[in-house]
Amino acid sequence: MKKCPICDVENAEAVSECNCGFSFVANAIGDYSRIRGWVRGAARWDEKVRRWSKVCRFLRSLQPQRVKDMAELLEVNPATLHYYLELAGALEKYPELVKYRTQRVAHDQYHTRKHGKTEKAPADVFGSEVELQKYLKQHWDEIPVLQEWRLEPACFSPWDRIDFLARHKKDRRWLVIELKVTLSSDETVGQILKYMGWVKRERATKDERVEGLIISESSDERIWYALHAVHGAVPIDLMQYCLESDRLRLFRVDVTDPPDSALLSIHLQTLEPNRKRVLIEEIVKQFQRPTMPSHGTDGATSE
Ligand SMILES: [Zn+2]
Repeated sequence: MKKCPICDVENAEAVSECNCGFSFVANAIGDYSRIRGWVRGAARWDEKVRRWSKVCRFLRSLQPQRVKDMAELLEVNPATLHYYLELAGALEKYPELVKYRTQRVAHDQYHTRKHGKTEKAPADVFGSEVELQKYLKQHWDEIPVLQEWRLEPACFSPWDRIDFLARHKKDRRWLVIELKVTLSSDETVGQILKYMGWVKRERATKDERVEGLIISESSDERIWYALHAVHGAVPIDLMQYCLESDRLRLFRVDVTDPPDSALLSIHLQTLEPNRKRVLIEEIVKQFQRPTMPSHGTDGATSE
């Protein structure tokens, strides 16, 4: 048996390349896309962070190099890699950070610890989906995109409770809302489609339209591609929220141009909370009063 220096899996002597992409023959990474796949396949954020760190440690064992160079080799955003490596260091120093549900909260907590401040909940993210749900319910009529909808009583599909089900105040339209307190991904699209189909079949009449809205703190490129594929065919919108002095702001994500938007999202995730807030404020200013997009004849409009 020979142990892979990157993923630590024991491979049979005859194997020339480990499943993670490491090549025993070359004693180097043989397949970079597989390595990326292995890292991103981690079930939890802390595991993903550790995997990036293992890959970089291996690369540096061959030859000392900067994060920027490794990022280029691995074809990942240098800022993103830097962020993960910083988190990996944070996890070594403060192992208790694993208790946080997301890397973002852990990252904020790390900075709080590093700068010697007392622990407090980060201001720019809800702690749980329940909190986000409670907030939206309480402030429903103050939120421009939601104002035109009337919230239905709690609705249980055969699988789960739908986060929010609403009906349009004037038109024959239903709205299924799916909440993600942090990252939304392609799975979220599958989830909301299932609920939309169920509402269409079990609640709406034939002449009523069922729409979907995903509200999350951030999103990744997978959801962009999933929404891009159904764009124009299934009315699902994606909105990201940010909290500014305890007030929630929503802004719509354009799914017509996935790669740029995906990149922006990745950059946003790597920013310091304060810088991110300033930037988001600027972006929000461009969308004075975000409203539900019309899926009518004019296609994607940026209100
Ligand atoms: Zn391996």
